[in-house]
Amino acid sequence: MTTSANSAGTAGGPSRRRLLAGAAGAGLAVTAGGRQRARAADLPPLGTYGVVVIGSGAAGMTAALTVARQGLSCVVVEKAPTFGGSAARSGAGIWIPNNEVILAAGVPDTPAKAAAYLAAVVGPDVPADRQRAFLAHGPAMLSFVMAHSPLRFRWMEGYSDYYPELPGGLPGGRSVEPDQLDGTVLGPELERLNPPYLDVPAGMVVFSADYKWLALATVNARGAAVAAQCLARGTKAALLGQKPLTMGQALAAGLRAGLRSAGVPVWLNTPLTDLHVENGTVTGAVVTRDGAPGLVRARRAVIVGSGGFEHNAAMREHFQRQPIGTDWTVGAKENTGDGIRAGQRLGAALDLMDDAWWGPAIPLPGQPWFCGLGDRLSVLLVGLPYRPRPYGETGPFQQRGHALRASAVEAQGHPVAEGLLVAAGLLAALETEEQVPARAQDAVEAGEEGGQVRRGCVDGGVPGHDAVQ
Ligand SMILES: Cc1cc2nc3c(=O)[nH]c(=O)nc-3n(C[C@H](O)[C@H](O)[C@H](O)COP(=O)(O)OP(=O)(O)OC[C@H]3O[C@@H](n4cnc5c(N)ncnc54)[C@H](O)[C@@H]3O)c2cc1C
Repeated sequence: MTTSANSAGTAGGPSRRRLLAGAAGAGLAVTAGGRQRARAADLPPLGTYGVVVIGSGAAGMTAALTVARQGLSCVVVEKAPTFGGSAARSGAGIWIPNNEVILAAGVPDTPAKAAAYLAAVVGPDVPADRQRAFLAHGPAMLSFVMAHSPLRFRWMEGYSDYYPELPGGLPGGRSVEPDQLDGTVLGPELERLNPPYLDVPAGMVVFSADYKWLALATVNARGAAVAAQCLARGTKAALLGQKPLTMGQALAAGLRAGLRSAGVPVWLNTPLTDLHVENGTVTGAVVTRDGAPGLVRARRAVIVGSGGFEHNAAMREHFQRQPIGTDWTVGAKENTGDGIRAGQRLGAALDLMDDAWWGPAIPLPGQPWFCGLGDRLSVLLVGLPYRPRPYGETGPFQQRGHALRASAVEAQGHPVAEGLLVAAGLLAALETEEQVPARAQDAVEAGEEGGQVRRGCVDGGVPGHDAVQ
């Protein structure tokens, strides 16, 4: 690896921050907010709480748990008929340096290493005080969640930092993921958990960190051993009458259980439509409940945790590289940027709207297939006519997503390349994942082929050849 994150991220062209200031200034989707705000005080009152939280994803539920455990009353309003958002659909790998779980597991992390690494990865796009705040409070947040919910976490051993070759990077990884959680703790509420993007194989209990080994189960002794462990966990849980949850399912269910213990109601099917302002202060949320508008008042704050805008075509077109669409995302379908737009109507600044947690996806009937592990083959095939090896295949998600956009736009309209996309979808399941620590070593020795550390979108793309938020 020869190119630093900072130089790659800022090289060539205006900074992303300046571009986004222009985008926000254009006032995208400023709709009926003003008229709605004028009428809001007359709406039927739906209660007054210390804090109103919008959205029941990981961010919203963690905020609500914090509020409630500080002794304030709180309600979570959720647009979907389920709770959990994209977080429930996710792998729930959580990157928080120096948390108690990784330190107990012997991960050689230190505050200095973490600070160096974060600064090298995010560069000037994230102000230094925010970086410091994340590093200082992240570990406490994880400990707090464990103290006030049934959630426990485990180190994702061998799930490398995205850029282990950068200063402070750890090839063995700093990520944690939820430990196995018995969903019966939620009782009937479990039925309201947003389903996972992909079910784990029947009878197995699988952690995110297991997947790379499961992909190797037929060719590698450790892979076979991990598969046997997954099966053993599944069998044990079945014998105990449990409903074992892992990954995003465990994360969302565990947070929801924490909220239940703290007495925080979660109102499903209750979308925020606008923020309510009095005397220049947000004092409530205008929501739709039981099909009718109403006002929930907040004495202290409204916290907006309503996710991204992956399913809002207009916002994606406005903020991200075109052509782009919403067909390939596997994020929660209710995430249409409602909270972002409500903030925008009040003049909130927006930043870093052009990028996302990208990953290759392939459209299949029903829902797209997010190629978390098998994407190396698809990338090779898509890039074949033009770029025999578009990037280092074991690179991080964003990097692969950016590079795939670039190669896919070249393949657009090329019958062979587009045909190969379909073939890739069928064959990628046979792909295997290399051990990421080996990638770190490769990178140090040889430099990353075709892969630069970039945080902005690269030149153009084809709708769908870019995938998830
Ligand atoms: C397949 C997949 C795998 C992933 N794996 C990982 C991973 O391993 N590690 C990682 O860090 N990230 C991962 N991600 C990304 C991660 O899931 C998201 O970044 C994260 O869930 C965002 O959390 P959130 O709480 O901000 O939003 P969400 O979890 O999306 O929650 C937002 C909630 O707000 C609700 N909402 C939306 N609009 C309104 C409204 N108007 N009123 C009320 N409620 C509203 C939504 O319905 C939703 O429940 C993955 C994503 C996917 C799709």
